[in-house]
Amino acid sequence: MKQGIHPDYVTCKVTCACGNTFETKSTKPELKLDICSACHPFYTGQQKFINRGGRVEKFKKKFNME
Ligand SMILES: [Zn+2]
Repeated sequence: MKQGIHPDYVTCKVTCACGNTFETKSTKPELKLDICSACHPFYTGQQKFINRGGRVEKFKKKFNME
């Protein structure tokens, strides 16, 4: 097995600035966010923010959901 091609994915504890915490898979064991699925406009239904310059894409990258 070659090293470095497949990063080790671990259970990552994500802590958001809003106080919400949840777990996902990431290469890091811990992440801190200032926005999450509980407080992100995309998930809270305030969809007027969706088309503002790739905010959802940045959000996805933070969670490795690309
Ligand atoms: Zn949040």
